[in-house]
Amino acid sequence: MLQFPRMAEETEAKKKKALTAEDFITKWPLYTPFNFEEYSPPARISFHCPNHDCSKETTWALSNKANFLTVAPNFYHVHYQCTLCQSFNLVVCYLRVGYKTRQIIGPTGQEPRHFYSQALKIGQYPALSIKLSKALEKNLGEHHAALYKKALANRNEGYGLGAVSYIRRVVEDKTEELIEVVAQLAQSHNIDPEVIKQIRSAKDEKTTYDKKLKLAATVMPDSLVIDGVNPLDALYGLVSAGLHDLTEEECIEIADETQSVFEFTFTRLRAETKERKDFADKIKKWAGGNSPAAKTPKSGTPEKNSAEPSKTPLGI
Ligand SMILES: [Zn+2]
Repeated sequence: MLQFPRMAEETEAKKKKALTAEDFITKWPLYTPFNFEEYSPPARISFHCPNHDCSKETTWALSNKANFLTVAPNFYHVHYQCTLCQSFNLVVCYLRVGYKTRQIIGPTGQEPRHFYSQALKIGQYPALSIKLSKALEKNLGEHHAALYKKALANRNEGYGLGAVSYIRRVVEDKTEELIEVVAQLAQSHNIDPEVIKQIRSAKDEKTTYDKKLKLAATVMPDSLVIDGVNPLDALYGLVSAGLHDLTEEECIEIADETQSVFEFTFTRLRAETKERKDFADKIKKWAGGNSPAAKTPKSGTPEKNSAEPSKTPLGI
């Protein structure tokens, strides 16, 4: 049985956890203000090294102090190098912005303290990655993986609205497929056929894709909610807010949240469904051959799933 992340809790934790100086270097998009007083880069970061010999997350060390160029006193460039292969480098250029003054208590009483409240990344080489996991790329298919990569490219350039538009197109095109995955998951859990019918009927509603998602999420039984996450509801939450109400920064947050929801719904949910179906098929085969294993099934396994699973167009 696959273990699913406690996504609701993780999401909650992520909201509470302030972004770190390392996040700015490794993940933060370009031209998007990063709230961090008197930003200074960390001495070491954990970052994926593309070198063939590394090809994993390694430790990278700051190979110089944050140098500022003569173009402006608040313009910096930093260099990191992978400590494992010592041949791959990362360069980030940024500005410190949001100059503010705060009154503090000093030795002579109240005195002003000047500081930069934000950092703004204006360049990164190599560029932030738009690579998808192999499983996600395969499950999205060539066309939709390309659209999702465009979403990530937009996000990395700080174009949050553009990123969300591409993400919505992917979700729109994949909504019916996702609802079908959930219906098959319900089948493998021996959910009441009437409920499965209701889940599937959301696909045929003459309404928008986000409303279809909501409809299917509403009838999805609690027993299918995995670790507190209703995947259709989570996706609905990400695609239903009106774009006109969202700032670029909020759109970038949505794009970042989408990455884990996409991995969950398009990859792990499908894997779970396939695993349960394969198991049920195996049990049926055993039962057909009068296997003792079929006569004394363990509780909690989907062996009662004797209903013929529908042939699926999803490759599941
Ligand atoms: Zn390396």
